[in-house]
Amino acid sequence: MQDRPLIDNHKQQGLRKKLIALLKQLGITNDEVLSAIYKVPRHQFLDSVFEVYAYENKALPIGEDQTISQPYTVAYQTEILEIEEGDKVLEIGTGSGFQTAVLSKLGATVFTIERQKSLHDKTPKLLAKMGIENIHYFFGDGFKGLPNHAPFDKIIITASPKKIPELLIEQLKIGGKMILPLDKGDVHKMTLIIKVDATDLQITELEDFKFVPMLKGVN
Ligand code: SAH
Repeated sequence: MQDRPLIDNHKQQGLRKKLIALLKQLGITNDEVLSAIYKVPRHQFLDSVFEVYAYENKALPIGEDQTISQPYTVAYQTEILEIEEGDKVLEIGTGSGFQTAVLSKLGATVFTIERQKSLHDKTPKLLAKMGIENIHYFFGDGFKGLPNHAPFDKIIITASPKKIPELLIEQLKIGGKMILPLDKGDVHKMTLIIKVDATDLQITELEDFKFVPMLKGVN
């Protein structure tokens, strides 16, 4: 996908405006989040066969049995994190890089981990071509986080683990926030964790979503 020219025409911009209107209807209110999503041409993250669906509110294939998250999901997770300029954010699951790009547009410095080598190799090239900066890419198992770069202001997990990853809690700043879709068997429950202090977590369960599983090791 990064081999073709990065076109962003009026039609695509128009479809993106409609998508933003839909995200508002669905309850996303943070204008900075909506504007960051508008600024990232989602069609450029997709293979040409899926490009026509880029501005529908759907998860789509990106290879390796993985998906680019649904736009509503990206908006929802990003809004909850209340990203501020200069935030140091750890993202688990680089995937296509779309969520990564949205975080960067909000002024975050993003540390992103991917366990699929082919995605880890491909995505940085696309984002560099798009001029999206302030991103550090890592190949590895997100369950381990990045102890050498901790602590983080915010942590976002874009695949679904069965348990809250303990090592990631350790790498969260006091007062920091983590958002993750917890696999409860029948549903993936969006869960917000605020690290009140070293031993006290405030855990809030939110809406149900659908994610790919968070897997151990690398591939
Ligand atoms: N934010 C991405 C989501 C991609 S899907 C996007 O919108 O494109 C989730 C991604 O998490 C996949 O690429 C998958 O390979 C990756 N993943 C799953 N388990 C992981 C783990 N333990 N560590 C790092 N990445 C993981």
